[in-house]
Amino acid sequence: MRHYKTRLSCWMCSLAFILILPIVVSAGHYTDFRYPREKQLTKDGYPTPLSGQPITKTPLIAKKKGVTLKKYPEHYIPGKEKLGDNEMRITMLGSGSPTPIRRAQATSGILVELGNGKNFIFDIGPGTAANLYSMGIHPALLDKVFINHLHLDHCGGIFPLFDAMGWARNTPLHVWGPSGTTPELGTAAFTKHIRAAAEWHVQAKRDLLPTGGTTITAHEIDISKFSPENPRQLVYNENGVKIYAFPVVHCIDGSLGYRLEWKGLVFAYTSDSEPSTFEAEQSKGADVFIHEVFPSPEGFAAHTKMPLELAENALGEHTVPEELGRVFSIAKPGLGIGSHYTLGDAMIDDAFKGMAKTYDGPVMLAHDLSVINVTPEQIVVRQAKTNLLASVPDAPKLEGVDMNPGEPSESKTPDWLRKTVIEK
Ligand SMILES: [Zn+2]
Ligand SMILES: [Zn+2]
Repeated sequence: MRHYKTRLSCWMCSLAFILILPIVVSAGHYTDFRYPREKQLTKDGYPTPLSGQPITKTPLIAKKKGVTLKKYPEHYIPGKEKLGDNEMRITMLGSGSPTPIRRAQATSGILVELGNGKNFIFDIGPGTAANLYSMGIHPALLDKVFINHLHLDHCGGIFPLFDAMGWARNTPLHVWGPSGTTPELGTAAFTKHIRAAAEWHVQAKRDLLPTGGTTITAHEIDISKFSPENPRQLVYNENGVKIYAFPVVHCIDGSLGYRLEWKGLVFAYTSDSEPSTFEAEQSKGADVFIHEVFPSPEGFAAHTKMPLELAENALGEHTVPEELGRVFSIAKPGLGIGSHYTLGDAMIDDAFKGMAKTYDGPVMLAHDLSVINVTPEQIVVRQAKTNLLASVPDAPKLEGVDMNPGEPSESKTPDWLRKTVIEK
């Protein structure tokens, strides 16, 4: 037990040190080896994946004529660019599909940062956490997650974010998401079971770290309230930020799209969905509208090694490029983005050719760490270069946060085993 208490006091000292003293984080070396290529283009002239360029031919979109456009560095480097008062930054934390999760493509996740200092996460699929933390935001400021639907490639990466408890996030993790047609199909059941599955983890941290971060607060959005007369619900309304939820068509009932509005800027995200006029109407006028897009059944079958018949079944619940063009032609976003697409040199031109059959506005394919800056004047897309060995940035102010580490767990390492610990 003496060792245990010694260990405890050391942990608490370290924690106090981390919370009280400003941390000087070295600028570090920002070469990101996920982007090893020199610039390369496809046959049709689109940047290829891993070239360090966003996959679009319209990386700069002027929203108004005759205004001076802000100039940005070629790449976004976390911590080096302060957002303007009227500026939104959208980062793709994950742009891929679950089979397989790739080193260069996590599953679905998007970070939205606003010039008022508020941050929002939309979907948190497996593989997204490392990209999220590489964006240089203190984990205490990443406590609002909006889940579009409960397929695991959209919510299964929540454990690492929950695990920011104690060290960094001392307040609950807030999770918004759909109810289900029955309670066990809803977001509250999902978060309850996530928290329950982490019981050993939480008890093992008791008496060591503040307990405030060990809870998940679910904000379930009642899908039974949607109707043609009530097409969307205002689910978040703070600090001038309004987030609306609306239903989309994807497998069983309980998939949502979100629309964030702030200072006249609009971000819309429908995650996985079949193409529908309804989602297009709800996303109308968005500066940036991110929607899933899948390859043709033949391309999907070849990539997943799935029999063509099953690939066709799966794609019945999704959207192919030509269909996405139809959605964009109704919504008319400033920039339409297809995500959830399996990127590969040979796949890029097909996607743009498909979208071009039905839509002629600015479009792009999302890649991990594509960064989109939106202001009243322009939309600019770049790739981020992040520090592969990123540290936790400076701690935000934590006054008023309960630092009580709680009571130790009743579960103890047996004395006979504890006695064998080598003197520290
Ligand atoms: Zn899905
Ligand atoms: Zn999905």
